[in-house]
Order: sequence, then C-alpha cells, then structure tokens
Amino acid sequence: MSTDGDTLPSFDSSKPSPARMYDYFLGGKDNFPVDREAGDKVKAAVGDTMSHGIVWENRRFLQRAVRHLAQNGIDQFIDLGTGLPTQGNVHEVAQEVVPEARVVYVDNDPIVSTHGRALLASNSSTTVITADVRDPEAILGHPDLRALIDFSRPVAVLSIALFHFISDDYDPPGILRKFRERLLPGSCLALSHLTTDGPPADEVAQVVDAYKGATSPIVFRPRARIEDLFDGFDLVEPGLTRPWKWHPELGPQGPETEWLYAGVAKLP
Ligand code: SAH
Repeated sequence: MSTDGDTLPSFDSSKPSPARMYDYFLGGKDNFPVDREAGDKVKAAVGDTMSHGIVWENRRFLQRAVRHLAQNGIDQFIDLGTGLPTQGNVHEVAQEVVPEARVVYVDNDPIVSTHGRALLASNSSTTVITADVRDPEAILGHPDLRALIDFSRPVAVLSIALFHFISDDYDPPGILRKFRERLLPGSCLALSHLTTDGPPADEVAQVVDAYKGATSPIVFRPRARIEDLFDGFDLVEPGLTRPWKWHPELGPQGPETEWLYAGVAKLP
C-alpha cells in the first residue's frame, strides 16, 4: 500500500486485484478494465454462470457462518480478507442477531478501506484496517483493532476465500497459529478455500493462469491441506464440507459447486 500524507491510500490499477476481480464476479461495479480482462479469462475457463456461482456460494456461506456464530454468543469478529463491501456484509448479518456486535475488517488492498470507510463511517462498532494477513502481529497489535476487540472474551476470526491467495512460502497454518495463540477457548475460526478436490484439473490450471499477473497469485489446495488450517480448533458439525452443504437452514445457499471447502471450528 502507498500512503500520501493525509490522503487516502492509492491503489494500483495497472494490475488485476483479487478484491476487484471478486467484485466483478459478484456483479459489482468497483472494478477496472484490467480486472475485467483477467476476470474474463476465469469466465472463459469455468463459464460465466459458474464463476458467478462459486463466489455467491462462498458469500452465502459467509453469511450463514456469521449468523451461526452470532447465534452462539460470538459478538466480536475479525474478518481477514474482507473484499469490497457488497450485500450482506459481516457487520450487517452479525448486528441483525447481536446489535452491539463489533467487527474489524482487514484487507491488504487499499481499495477495500477506501470503500469500506465510506460505507461504515457512521458505525462506531466497526472499523476497516489496511494490513496484510502475512503479518499477523501488525493486525493483532493495530490500535484500531485493539480499540474494538476484547481478547479476554471469545472472538471469531473469519478467513473466507482468503488463504488461496497466500502461497506456502508464507506458511498459512503458521499465520493462523499466530491468531489462535491470542484467542480464548470458545473462540472460533470460519474458513473457506478453493480446492483441487472436485473441479476439472484443466479448468483449475486456467484459473491459476488468469491470476498470474494479479497483485496476488491464486493457489488451489487439496482437502488435506485445507484441514491443516484448522489445526488446534475443533470443526463443528457438519465438519469441512462444500459451502452450500453447510447449515442450509440458516439462510440462502449459493449454487451447488465442487470448487470450495468450508467449515467453522471452535477453540477447545
Ligand atoms: N472474504 C470475502 C472476500 C474474498 S476475496 C468473501 O469471501 O466474500 C479475497 C480478499 O482477500 C480480497 O479482498 C483480497 O484483497 C484479500 N487478500 C488477498 N491477500 C491478502 C493478504 N495477504 N492480506 C490481506 N488480505 C488479502
């Protein structure tokens, strides 16, 4: 990120960004020609309906997971890799259940804080910080996070469609361990991740290729590597599963695809 005095962070419109590409797939307007060009390669590989379907399947899982967590007494959320604001954002779903719920949004793409701050300006229980999940200490020690999150009570960490943007060089389980070490028993982790176990290998390869020039490459992982991300946590029923299969009674589901795994887990 670059900052320039008191002005808002600037963002790079010369390279596709995962946040803006995701917005393009969702049907949003916060994307540039470079994002649409890379996004169109994904659409060509997996089909228009499927690319739209995968992101909505994921987004609907996020909303049901947050509802489940709020209904089970969680009122503090750290949402890693927030993405651009869209319908049914974390604070909206959580505060429907627990009006005083607090949400800290974290994304390394400055476009998210620019748009997020505009959307959340009047909400004293939420904040948006620009930080990189590969630097957990910077997030956990951030004064804006410390002002809202009370680590002497349970917290939910959300990592929805984030870790497929973090390569093995950065040790994804090690990153999540750093967060886990700060949490009390009863805290939770909700996570979804693109997988090689399901989609056709040639389509996966084309999607990986479409993200090659982006600000972050994309990495699909087998189920076992995704399970590793829950180390130290106990998965709640029904375990690690397809997002659309996860507690459909809690709200709308997305289409039934085999591109992702998702789960919610609790710290014993
Ligand atoms: N969680 C949202 C958005 C997923 S898109 C949802 O599921 O609907 C993935 C988001 O992760 C993008 O906004 C991207 O900018 C962010 N991201 C990617 N790498 C990141 C990193 N290293 N640190 C923080 N955020 C990151």
